Amino acid sequence: MPPRAPTILALDFDGVICDGMREYFAAAWRAWRRLRPSVAPNPPPGLLEGFARVRPLIESGWEMPLVIHALLSGASADDLLGSWRPAPLLAQLGLTREDVAAAVDRVRDAWIAADEADWLDHHRFYPGVVEKLGRLAGGPTRSVVVTTKEGRFARKLLARQGLELGAGNVLGKEVGQPKPAILRELIDAGPPTASLWFVEDRLEALAAVKRTPGLDGVELFLASWGYNTERDREAARRDDRIAPLSLEQFAGDFAGWRAGADDRPRTPPLR
Ligand SMILES: [Mg+2]
Repeated sequence: MPPRAPTILALDFDGVICDGMREYFAAAWRAWRRLRPSVAPNPPPGLLEGFARVRPLIESGWEMPLVIHALLSGASADDLLGSWRPAPLLAQLGLTREDVAAAVDRVRDAWIAADEADWLDHHRFYPGVVEKLGRLAGGPTRSVVVTTKEGRFARKLLARQGLELGAGNVLGKEVGQPKPAILRELIDAGPPTASLWFVEDRLEALAAVKRTPGLDGVELFLASWGYNTERDREAARRDDRIAPLSLEQFAGDFAGWRAGADDRPRTPPLR
């Protein structure tokens, strides 16, 4: 049996804690206009809806303006869901992922500098998530946010909700490490008996943890309320290691997190 509560609870940010769809789209659109100033000032009707449908494929912010580019070039959301390959789009545009990532970060910084309240208002937190993290604060479980966005943006949003997890507990793009490597470091820094649970809305990010040696004991949860597809959730239900998690389960006791998934083989201890 897994311990009743993890030593470390690692959480993705976008699609697990916070729904920033309106912000992603607005930031991506503004970044795209910086990269391609000839684009019309306002997005065409329907672009947000297509962008939102493709969001489950996005790993990092630099891909978001490329989704806009692909949709404006005539690809449908279904085309992109069938095959999302941002590298050829970058090559076509003569840009690097660093160029696009920097454009997105600059847009966010400029937006915050101009109207921080407006930027914050473009995000919403999933019901019960802030309360759950608030209840864990000061207890035996350490909550750590592991995100592909810049940590300073996540910290600002959490602070607005009254959650100060501390600089060492919000690990973003600035860390320069993929999520599995960050989880490995969290485990190595903890006591030998430490247990780590990881909640993520992107199935591929969980699959990457499964493939990483040394992470065999990490309990994996797919946040079914986040940016994933029915196909992803079905794959998680069939997976011997990943447990699909509902928002109600997340908000409740850890003991209920693997309800319905516990007839499957157990994972070995971390070390
Ligand atoms: Mg996510």
